[in-house]
Amino acid sequence: MRAEIRVTGIVQGVGFRPFVYRTAVKHNLLGYVRNRGDAGVEIVVEGEKDKIEKFIEDLKVKKPPLAKIHDLIVNFSEEKGEFKEFKILRSSESRELSGSVIPPDIAICDECLKELRDPRDKRYDYFFITCTDCGPRFTVIEQLPYDRPNTTMRDFPMCSFCQREYEDPANRRFHAQTVACPTCGPKAYLTDSKGEEIEVKDPIREAGRLLAEGYIVAIKGYGGFHVATATTLSEPIRRLRRVKHRRQKPFAIMARNLETVKTFAVVGPKEAELLTSYVRPIVLLRKSEDYYLSDLIAPGLHNVGVMLPYSAMHYMLFDEVDEPAFVMTSANPPNQPIVKDNTEALKRLGKIVDYFLFHNRRIAHRCDDSVARVHKNEHICLIRRSRGYAPAPVHLKFFSKKCVLGLGGELNVVSCILNGDKAFLSQHIGDVENIETLNFLEEATRHLIRLTNSKIEAVACDLHPKFNTTKLAYKLAEELDCPVMRVQHHHAHVAALMAEHNLDEIVGIACDGYGYGPKGEAWGGEILYCNRESYKRIGHLEEQPMPGGDLATYYPLRMAAGILHKITDISEWLLSKSNFLPHGKTEAELILKQLEKGVKLETSSCGRVLDAISAILGVCYERTYEGEPAMKLESAAIGGKDVLELKPEIRGNIVKTTELVNAVFEALGKFRVTDLAFSAQEYIAKSLAKLAVEKAEELGVKNVGFSGGVAYNEQITATIQRIVEENGLNFVFHKFVPAGDGGTSFGQAVVAGFVTN
Ligand SMILES: [Zn+2]
Ligand SMILES: [Zn+2]
Repeated sequence: MRAEIRVTGIVQGVGFRPFVYRTAVKHNLLGYVRNRGDAGVEIVVEGEKDKIEKFIEDLKVKKPPLAKIHDLIVNFSEEKGEFKEFKILRSSESRELSGSVIPPDIAICDECLKELRDPRDKRYDYFFITCTDCGPRFTVIEQLPYDRPNTTMRDFPMCSFCQREYEDPANRRFHAQTVACPTCGPKAYLTDSKGEEIEVKDPIREAGRLLAEGYIVAIKGYGGFHVATATTLSEPIRRLRRVKHRRQKPFAIMARNLETVKTFAVVGPKEAELLTSYVRPIVLLRKSEDYYLSDLIAPGLHNVGVMLPYSAMHYMLFDEVDEPAFVMTSANPPNQPIVKDNTEALKRLGKIVDYFLFHNRRIAHRCDDSVARVHKNEHICLIRRSRGYAPAPVHLKFFSKKCVLGLGGELNVVSCILNGDKAFLSQHIGDVENIETLNFLEEATRHLIRLTNSKIEAVACDLHPKFNTTKLAYKLAEELDCPVMRVQHHHAHVAALMAEHNLDEIVGIACDGYGYGPKGEAWGGEILYCNRESYKRIGHLEEQPMPGGDLATYYPLRMAAGILHKITDISEWLLSKSNFLPHGKTEAELILKQLEKGVKLETSSCGRVLDAISAILGVCYERTYEGEPAMKLESAAIGGKDVLELKPEIRGNIVKTTELVNAVFEALGKFRVTDLAFSAQEYIAKSLAKLAVEKAEELGVKNVGFSGGVAYNEQITATIQRIVEENGLNFVFHKFVPAGDGGTSFGQAVVAGFVTN
């Protein structure tokens, strides 16, 4: 018999062809296997029928660990007798099926790590050691199919040693496209801040020593540059904050190993699993009692973002120093994508760092580290889904009849292609507020369309008319000759939840800082009923004034003043706090005057209420990064108890917040800040949950979910979950996409997919 087999999924760049080769030879079959331009694999075998069937069974069951088979299509026919052996053929360019994709970057495997440390091994101490099971993938591939000439490894012709391994079916590097060694592969080198090379025998370990001594070093990795420094010294971190104009925003760190992480942070089993997985995300961990790293790493926060080394270079940095961890922050100038090219790095980072640790391998696509957090020791919340995940799809339990592209909103943008029963999310793009990030979004989106061989039939974007993503949506839709669908921000959040759990309807609580309402309102504390056709706003937080508009977002004292002014005289208090406003007393007086006249701009944002409480409690007076006052409030509430025990104040469909803010204000000095912060968060969670449960019961809906950036708050989420479950309803939370704005492009695509079906 002859069988022609097509395999789709993640089957390129994961050792799938070598595996097919070995399996075919084992079953005495003749024929060939080859990669295709649509990221799938094509196999033709001839032999006895039962052997072919066993072969197919083995393909499904014994596939390499990183391979994912979505579909295996088999056509049997008469044997033609055209083969003398089984071969891996040159790849075909043909593109026919869609939905296959290349793998994400994969952390160094145990075998490679062992060889790195073995003095007898050819790749002993070699920083770019990889094999079919590990190494960069997404970031090295310029085009499909995944063959060396289509990757940035084409700049490094293999030496005879590597070539032999590459051609040896018994070798772990058989057809490994990133195979390289010290003779033929990429080289690392150290330079000063001007790019002048410094002659050292061991540039990587020298860079490690420089870091430990307190220098700032830019390090080129898989998906871009990191800016690194020590974690036990405060001086270099202070200097880094000054030159990066990053006053408070936490820096991620890379720790030597898991044991070391446990010396300064609390690591649960789920967190340990995530830290050591091949994704190696940054995991937000609670600082332990005896946290001894610099307080400047994550100032005012109870947790710290930690990752473990994921390349040989990272491991080597730690070899000759005692430093437990290094600061490893993405090298991106404010509002710009992560730096990936050497010349760009010199230009943009030269004034920030003391040294560069370069290598001469080009990065095809930039990709930031992923960020995750674990709630209640069990639930993984993705905050940023990027390196290690992208471009592997999220698998859905339904089938979208239309192929839809979603472009997200303004902050934490990723794009998303909904194709059949899969959603392909791009790497993290960032805040699309200027031309550089917009270009990055467009380029990454086009690349994702090509990679997945998708025929886009609709483009989805936000309701906001001025977002760059909205403009890009119209541009792409015109080019692709398809309609644009505008989706309300919180509708997208809740639809994402629905799709992840394959629900037909849901009552969703969506809380964050800001989303454009259908009439241009500032939404952000919403309860929506949502089904596959539409949504309805069935509840929300009380609308509160924003004195000074956007300024109230940056200076939460303004929010506090606006809310308190409704029921109490705050002149004296606000004047006493005027040193926390950039223009002092004059500004405080102006705010009071505005409040007397009445403030038109209002918001139902949950984030803004949390901000106001944060300012009243003296936890945070200025937002220097997105979510800062609310994040610091969560940290301040750790270990607190509900001393205020406020009863939910619900008027009609509105959760009141004025009385809450006033109660906190009145209780100042009578209770610990920790307990007041805890009480305030408890009130918001309880009231939202109560109203959502009432609405769900009225409507006969079984599922209540929680989405939006506020859902990263562990206390608020846990309380909502408890109340929903106590009332016999099912609580749902995001599993595969971020609860924050990194999940909205997926939600938009889902809404467009539902509606246009
Ligand atoms: Zn390996
Ligand atoms: Zn070599």
